[in-house]
This record gives sequence, structure tokens and C-alpha cells, in this order.
Amino acid sequence: MAKCDQGYLCQICGEEVKGITQSDLYLRYVIGMVDPELLHLQPERHIRCNPSLAQFIDDPDFKRIEVSQEFEMSSLDPDFVKQKTALISRGYRRLKALRKTDLPITEYPLPEFLDRHRSEE
Ligand SMILES: [Zn+2]
Repeated sequence: MAKCDQGYLCQICGEEVKGITQSDLYLRYVIGMVDPELLHLQPERHIRCNPSLAQFIDDPDFKRIEVSQEFEMSSLDPDFVKQKTALISRGYRRLKALRKTDLPITEYPLPEFLDRHRSEE
């Protein structure tokens, strides 16, 4: 889905995913979890509809979500939680920044993930 496209529906709740800062797919893309080649093949979801990832977003613009027991951060290793929170919160801030730019989609990921994809080519 390109930034300007309309009508991509969330696989979980069926509502439209309005913009990149609601997109779980793009969040995972900028933090290196989705291969650029596969981006257009993956289903779209709201960030909030994927609590296992969304629980790690620590940002004033993102209302923290309640998650069910199985995803609860308190059951996870604290160092793992810290690293995940840092990375995924950076990814979310990246999405907010991308809203205001005209970068090509290949430049969306955070720098360390950009380098990785480049070196594989
Ligand atoms: Zn949804």
C-alpha cells in the first residue's frame, strides 16, 4: 500500500487502515521485520489490532493498549522488553516522520535495516 492509496482494510477488524501511522505492516517494515520484496503481498492490519507488537510502543501519540495475559510484558524478560520497546517505539516515530516526507518506499526502514537490505543485494 502506498501512502496515498485508500481502501486497505485491516485483516483483523475489517476497518480501513487510514494512513501509515496506523499500519502494522509499515511498522514491521521499518523495523526490518518485513522484506521489501514481500511488502505488497502481506495483509494490512492496524497497529492496535496486533497487540503483541503494539504493546511495545512507548510514545505520547500512541495510547498504550491493554493486552491479554499471553502477551503481557511482565511475563517477558526485562532486557528483551527494553530492547523491543526501544526498537518498536523508534519504528513508530519513524512512521510519524514519514508522513511528512516524499521518501521512496525503499528508504522507509530505520538506518540499520536499510544497510542490511542493501548489503544483501
Ligand atoms: Zn483493525
